[in-house]
Amino acid sequence: MFIIKLAKDVHQYLQNRRLQGHMVGFVPTMGALHNGHLSLIEASRKANGITVCSIFVNPTQFNDSEDFQKYPVTLENDICQLEKAGCDVLFLPSVNEIYPRGPERKNLSYDLGYLETVLEGQYRPGHFQGVCQVMDRLMHIVEPHNLYLGQKDYQQCMVIKKLLLLIGSHAHINICPTFRQPDGLAMSSRNMRLNEEERKLATGLYECLTFISKNIQPGPLNAVLKDARTVLESKKLLPDYIEIADAGTLRLLDNWDGQTKIVALIAAFMGKIRLIDNMVLPA
Ligand code: AMP
Repeated sequence: MFIIKLAKDVHQYLQNRRLQGHMVGFVPTMGALHNGHLSLIEASRKANGITVCSIFVNPTQFNDSEDFQKYPVTLENDICQLEKAGCDVLFLPSVNEIYPRGPERKNLSYDLGYLETVLEGQYRPGHFQGVCQVMDRLMHIVEPHNLYLGQKDYQQCMVIKKLLLLIGSHAHINICPTFRQPDGLAMSSRNMRLNEEERKLATGLYECLTFISKNIQPGPLNAVLKDARTVLESKKLLPDYIEIADAGTLRLLDNWDGQTKIVALIAAFMGKIRLIDNMVLPA
């Protein structure tokens, strides 16, 4: 695996490989890699001659400075895992390489419309502008044929889909299923920050989603959402939101016609750690 730190070098290397006829698959990450990330690498390897992973803890997408400061960094282990997984190129840029004019978020300019007003957009102001800022830059550097994203970040997938339209990228988005621990907890770099007791209780997110999938009926949704909240709170999880939305548009629903494909989405705090998860229904 080549480890490349400069944008111009990675761009040049990939340009040559594209000219030789290779398909390029790209897996952008913030590191602290786990099997969820590796499942994206595997999906990319199956369909592309060259798989590129980036590791960059993007300062502009954190709206909580403590979350940024304490974001887990496990670079040596990440490199080992990527080598084993057969990744071809690791792009490891500095902040300066991604943001030559500084990592400011002054000109928030991506028109994400409704998507930025709900759920993560509402609870993490500016977060998706930061995601767009870094993805815009990374997509111009890597210029992949295929982009691999995790369904774990459902709304982020929709935001990036919109971003690709806004920047005129023709990359194909591949959304990979959420990789879970045996007890249902979605793998996440932030899980590393949970203590033993919190880690056990964090399964409440999956239990809450499973509860919704088993109990949802066409008609008003307030009763099932209220009971779902009780499931979450019984595990000491404090929700920012528990919502059910149209899976295609993310419009929030208070009534389900029984036909529309929907998604249940949760964000909740376990102590100081904010976790998110979702499930497309009927599961
Ligand atoms: P992150 O490093 O958290 O920014 O995630 C990098 C990519 O991995 C994103 O596309 C995530 O949606 C995806 N990802 C994170 N956790 C999982 C998981 N448990 N299963 C599948 N994909 C994931």
